[in-house]
Amino acid sequence: METDPVCGARIRPGQEAGSTTYQGKTYRFCCTECRREFERKPKQYATAPTSAA
Ligand SMILES: [Zn+2]
Repeated sequence: METDPVCGARIRPGQEAGSTTYQGKTYRFCCTECRREFERKPKQYATAPTSAA
């Protein structure tokens, strides 16, 4: 299952409202607003650690 990097929502395959590719990786989003937010600040979301620091 994919996770929306912006809001953290879980997205079932095929249920994403949008996706974008950043640095060779595809990110999927629950809504177009999240995609827009990601594209505004891709560094912030793409580099977010997956483990709690
Ligand atoms: Zn979202």
